[in-house]
Amino acid sequence: MDFSLTEDQRELQDAARKFARAELPELARDMEEKDYPVPHDMLRKYGELGFLGINLPEEYGGLGLGHVEALLVLEEFAQISNAVAFPVFEALTGPVRTIDRFGSAEMKARILPEVIKGEKIVAVSMSEPDAGTALTDLKTKAVADGDDFIVSGYKRWTSGGGHSDYYVTYCRFSDAPAAKGIGAILLEKDMDGMTFGKREQLMGFRGIPTADYAIEDVRAPASNVIVGEGGFGKLMSAFGLERCGNATQALGVAAAALEQALAYTQEREAFGKPIVDFQAVQLKLAEMAMKVDSARLLIHRAAANADTQDDGLPTVYESSLAKCYANEIVREVTALGMQVMGGYGYHKDYGMEQRLRDSYAWGIAGGAIDVQKTNIAAALIGRRFNQRT
Ligand SMILES: Cc1cc2nc3c(=O)[nH]c(=O)nc-3n(C[C@H](O)[C@H](O)[C@H](O)COP(=O)(O)OP(=O)(O)OC[C@H]3O[C@@H](n4cnc5c(N)ncnc54)[C@H](O)[C@@H]3O)c2cc1C
Repeated sequence: MDFSLTEDQRELQDAARKFARAELPELARDMEEKDYPVPHDMLRKYGELGFLGINLPEEYGGLGLGHVEALLVLEEFAQISNAVAFPVFEALTGPVRTIDRFGSAEMKARILPEVIKGEKIVAVSMSEPDAGTALTDLKTKAVADGDDFIVSGYKRWTSGGGHSDYYVTYCRFSDAPAAKGIGAILLEKDMDGMTFGKREQLMGFRGIPTADYAIEDVRAPASNVIVGEGGFGKLMSAFGLERCGNATQALGVAAAALEQALAYTQEREAFGKPIVDFQAVQLKLAEMAMKVDSARLLIHRAAANADTQDDGLPTVYESSLAKCYANEIVREVTALGMQVMGGYGYHKDYGMEQRLRDSYAWGIAGGAIDVQKTNIAAALIGRRFNQRT
């Protein structure tokens, strides 16, 4: 067992860190203040530097590296902000992976190079007004019509909604009940019948536009089907990497909170000495470090062990454990960070309050914390728990 990064991994991490710290902090502050997503010229820069294709195949312009490498890069971006990291998250661990894994050769050849170059963005639309945790209650339908499918329904909570070019849209291909009829089809922003709602106002996630959209008799070619009827299990099996990406977004925020708290407490003085000299402050810093390091180890274990799996993906057990833990500790670590920074922690100009607001999203998005715990228990016991009966 080796806990150190290889020289190549360290070099990649350094390159991502240098880029993120030199180019992104000012942009991240502006995105937070004015609430806009990563601008296209910057996205292309991410692409030119290879950050959007770390673990995507070389034949489409990716670097063909492993998931650990992808997560090392993602963490560096997330340490600046979740919003600047969002396109990296989507490309390396999110909906783009669904296309990479299940899309046809034609679809991959069309979409992946555009994403890797930073020209196009892909979002995922699973949730609906009456289907969140109970995802298999979703009602969006795709009905065959000649060489096409006619899709109709309503999607809620799409991160990147209205801004992204492509939507991996979970839908029903038949009236088969629950999971059986579900698959996914790729919808495109400009297709007739796609109507995006207002930008939803959330507690955090500024710079990551979130919107509902109505799908009214949208005609999509059959070649846009990613996984047809009966593919729900497949789609979920590929979710292990998304969980690691979600966990890494949370980890980045927590690691940045720790770094800021360490610097601040050595600089800020009270009673004539740096506040880090007070034992109560030291204990908080130590607790923050314990949580950040543990989360990172769990995430890296899940990603490193993916190589030992037949499908090359992190297992449900290890990825759920990593996600659940990172989702919980990021809330605790940012709260401790706020506390040791006193009034400045609570002030918008100093960044910690943004970290705390963003931290809460990750334990809801991609599966709520308690649902992850159910997955963990199910994997421990070796059987799934039916939530409906
Ligand atoms: C910031 C953010 C970004 C998101 N981005 C996307 C996106 O890009 N695409 C997309 O499709 N969706 C997205 N979502 C939606 C997200 O996946 C859902 O919010 C999530 O699955 C929970 O569904 P819900 O909000 O309907 O809550 P509900 O399903 O109503 O659950 C509410 C709470 O009830 C509890 N609960 C429910 N069922 C169970 C159970 N079986 N066991 C234990 N506890 C349970 C949990 O505590 C849960 O948090 C996003 C959400 C957020 C907050």
